[in-house]
Amino acid sequence: MERIYFDNAATTPLAPEVVEAMMPYLRGEYGNPSSIHAFGRATRAGIERSRRSVARSLNCSPGEIIFTSGGTEADNMALNCSVRDRGVKHIITSAIEHHAIEHTAGCLEREGKACVHLVRLDGEGHVDLAHLEELLREHQHVLVSLMHANNEIGTCADLQAIGALCRKYGALFHSDTVQTMGHFPFDLATLPIDMLSASAHKFHGPKGSGFLYMRAGTGLNAMMQGGGQERNMRGGTENICGIVGLAAALELAFEDLDRHRAHIQGLKDHMIERLRAEIPGVAFNGDIGPASLYTVLNVRFPDDGKGEMLIYNLDMEGVAVSGGSACSSGSNKGSHVLATIAPDAPGTNIRFSFSRYNTLQEVDRTVDLLKRLFKVPALAGQRPA
Ligand code: PLP
Repeated sequence: MERIYFDNAATTPLAPEVVEAMMPYLRGEYGNPSSIHAFGRATRAGIERSRRSVARSLNCSPGEIIFTSGGTEADNMALNCSVRDRGVKHIITSAIEHHAIEHTAGCLEREGKACVHLVRLDGEGHVDLAHLEELLREHQHVLVSLMHANNEIGTCADLQAIGALCRKYGALFHSDTVQTMGHFPFDLATLPIDMLSASAHKFHGPKGSGFLYMRAGTGLNAMMQGGGQERNMRGGTENICGIVGLAAALELAFEDLDRHRAHIQGLKDHMIERLRAEIPGVAFNGDIGPASLYTVLNVRFPDDGKGEMLIYNLDMEGVAVSGGSACSSGSNKGSHVLATIAPDAPGTNIRFSFSRYNTLQEVDRTVDLLKRLFKVPALAGQRPA
């Protein structure tokens, strides 16, 4: 049985080209990048080449890219260091952020270092811009941290509009772009944003590798103290393989972004169409329109009493998906995102998340399987279940 992987928002497979790019640094090139000898100079060159490549893709300067151990570290750094180094007293965020933001903001509040304010959202998880402006007008020394696309439901925020409001009121603006980096173009020369977080394993790069973009002049110092690596912004011997793999994965993603986007959007639209037509009672969580994250589709299946088992039944048939909480595939613990936007909606929620390696046939096989699991009778003229 060919297994189907529809959990790409949790993590993506490494692209073969990325493995190739990383291989030299797993084999021959092992020097410490801080060493001045030829071994060290070779790995240093690999890191700086990667930094320039990421900066080129995002239209920013290489010095604005700080490599980290992933999205969680970048999110922690943005919040903790803004409070510590920029005198931030108020964090405006939302109730559907990833835990890397939500828990960090909560910690800062419990320690008495900042007050957390939650911006209102609509039923699909869109930010209420009028409420955001109200909050910005009321408070000073503010950091706004709002994610670009939600990892569970795929609803996107308008970074341009949020950034413009932040500029108007003199607030710092950070966005967790972990789910959109490599899937949407970014032009940091024109986007009014101070910081963004990214993670390589969400765009076919290696796990444990990410970056924080920090606009020049933002004025934060290192969260991780150590040997002065990353221009004193992050101590610790660099994850050379991870950094080289991240840059290669991002280059690849941007090289063919439009084609990948059209392909993946086609998968999502096909699945929406078939589910709507063939499984009675199916609904969708969050925004599923053209402005949403095209890699994510969160489906609410009718309550047939066996909902709890749905992920496991799909898994037994070779289809990998996520339930409630993102980034914990296989776990069906309650989702703070769905509890916020659809607290009373009955049913079983499943997140299907796609990549450029998925196919229409895989979508068809999965819908056919779902029909079987929901015992949808095969009608004349319909696809066989
Ligand atoms: N932010 C979002 C939106 C995510 O989906 C994830 C997923 O894991 C993270 C942050 C954490 O990133 P990482 O796994 O690189 O720490």
